[in-house]
Amino acid sequence: MDDFAENYRHHLAFVSGSKDTMPITVGNIVDALEALGGEAHYSDITAQVLKVAQAPFPADPAASVRARLQERCSDYKAFKHKQDLFESDAGTGIWRFRQWRKASPQPSQLKEELDIYEGFEGRLVPKLHLVRERDPKLIAKFKATLAEARCEACSINLSEIYGALAADYIEAHHKKPVALIQEGSATTLDDLAALCPNCHRIIHKNYPMSVDELAAVVAAPNGFVGDVQSARDKRKSWKDAVYAAIVRLVNSEHASNFTRQNLIEHELAKIIADVNSKGETPEQTLSRVLQELKSAGVIDFIDNRGTYRLN
Ligand SMILES: [Zn+2]
Ligand SMILES: [Zn+2]
Repeated sequence: MDDFAENYRHHLAFVSGSKDTMPITVGNIVDALEALGGEAHYSDITAQVLKVAQAPFPADPAASVRARLQERCSDYKAFKHKQDLFESDAGTGIWRFRQWRKASPQPSQLKEELDIYEGFEGRLVPKLHLVRERDPKLIAKFKATLAEARCEACSINLSEIYGALAADYIEAHHKKPVALIQEGSATTLDDLAALCPNCHRIIHKNYPMSVDELAAVVAAPNGFVGDVQSARDKRKSWKDAVYAAIVRLVNSEHASNFTRQNLIEHELAKIIADVNSKGETPEQTLSRVLQELKSAGVIDFIDNRGTYRLN
């Protein structure tokens, strides 16, 4: 430890005006475990904590370290049902970050994310979500599919601000709600959205929020949040929206027959507004939904030229 650090610690002890011991925190242990490469015996973790944590220390620091580890390990009775951060092979005294994989994610990134998610206590911990988003192979594949590094929510390409410093910088966001991500299930490229760091933070801060909803806020004057709620309230399923469109169409034409082409010409824009998402290929989606409505007996084919009847 250098003199500056030593002096600073004394200074802190002085300004705090207290001789009470400083508790060893979960943050101390995350820092220590990172410094030790993600996995270490608890005695080494303790030694590392004592190098950097704020004195005066508790009487039995090793016991405090073990207590903190066990409080954040679901394999122990002492588990506090907060974040499940650590794991240990019973009896070895060796602890590591749960699901820790050497070299990925980067320790400093993980620490940063854990700091953010301290705010999520009592809710589903999005750790699994983060692990998925940080799978380097998947992200490399995902980025390779992007024409450019443009944010799907706010449309910025960071190189417009930072030039070459931000060339191709974009983050992958897992669109599936955390509750639907199963341990061991595969993440596909379709599950990911490209977001700039700001939008990525904001979407997690307001979890659960869809990329479309965030885009609506960004597009609204001053990010008016009421627009998100009304978008959520008004959103219809494709099936409901197409059915409503068919009813409008046959009523306006006073006939029970209609064609797919008429539906596209007169109603597709309204359908897209109703479902609040265009998707890549709305006409294909429309065809699929017509097929579903036919299977359900709501409509029937009359000929092979795209004429239908509302039953
Ligand atoms: Zn953005
Ligand atoms: Zn994300």
